[in-house]
Amino acid sequence: MFNTPILNSPHGVMLMPLLPNALASVLPTAFDADQRYSVDLHMHSTASDGALSPTDLVTLCAGRGLTHMALTDHDTMEGVEEASRAAQQAGLCLVPGCELSTRWQGINIHVVALMPGGLQGPMIEGLEQQREARIKRAEVIAERLEKMGLPNALEKARAQAGGDRPLGRPDFARALVAEGVVADWAGAFKRYLGSGKKGDVKAHWPEISEAVGWVVASGGVAVLAHPLRYGLTRRKRGLLMDTFMEAGGQGVELVSGQQNPDATRDLARQLVERELYASLGSDFHFPGSYAAPGSMSSVPRTAAPPIWQHPRLAHLRDAPSGMLGAKPLNQLS
Ligand code: AMP
Ligand code: MN
Ligand code: MN
Ligand code: MN
Repeated sequence: MFNTPILNSPHGVMLMPLLPNALASVLPTAFDADQRYSVDLHMHSTASDGALSPTDLVTLCAGRGLTHMALTDHDTMEGVEEASRAAQQAGLCLVPGCELSTRWQGINIHVVALMPGGLQGPMIEGLEQQREARIKRAEVIAERLEKMGLPNALEKARAQAGGDRPLGRPDFARALVAEGVVADWAGAFKRYLGSGKKGDVKAHWPEISEAVGWVVASGGVAVLAHPLRYGLTRRKRGLLMDTFMEAGGQGVELVSGQQNPDATRDLARQLVERELYASLGSDFHFPGSYAAPGSMSSVPRTAAPPIWQHPRLAHLRDAPSGMLGAKPLNQLS
């Protein structure tokens, strides 16, 4: 049966969802069919390197028929309060969150923190530490890029970022393009900023176990972000998951953006073996890219339980969509 949600926008206009008809609008207790869901638990706003304000992001999600979303900006929850207000207006369920930059065996690993109680506990100090790390890291990246032909790199990246948020590699990528050092964004990462390049500065990030510890001790659920995007062998990915679990990590992004179905099924087996919960997200950053909110590949049939089955996120599953706006899920401490 088609169960496409039709939402009332704040202006009373009926918006047809852009997602395919096979979208399930109620959160299932199991992934028992290969399909897509009206849920996106990994997205960015202008609070980090996304193009849309938290409000505009929520409006886009509502227009696309999403019922549940998480805002997961890099190392900050600054956008969550605004997103919460917009979500209440739009009648969709917003999970406060962020995406933590961490290290494991010399690799930059991302951990999505789903924080149903908002920013609280050791995460407050953790995000402060991340903020300082990001500021120091930007100085090191700038020094290195200056040696490689981008004078005044810090100022140029700052100009690209607009506001005064801590800088990220995308800001340096834009500066490299704007100055004609590289032809495009992809070239900036390939030559200067991507994994293993000079501008890929990781020393400032905490070990993955430390970051997972903050999340778990703060009432949150830690989700290993996009495990297929680190260039790891299956075996090494398993070791990463083991370390993540030993630190208290509870879930893994089974689907992140567009994935090869065979790779996803194989990843699902690694989750099931470890009794990890499965999450899903688009990693949306800006309109016009391949990723739109809710546009990720379908979730395969799997015994790995959906992340909203985790006791800490149970109110997400149980409440009817659009009803969580006034509930504690959206209240920030
Ligand atoms: P940072 O948080 O400063 O480490 O920057 C990481 C962000 O840069 C990612 O979340 C992506 O948005 C972007 N990024 C990282 N690697 C690449 C890449 N190879 N190509 C394009 N964008 C990338
Ligand atoms: Mn990003
Ligand atoms: Mn990431
Ligand atoms: Mn992300």
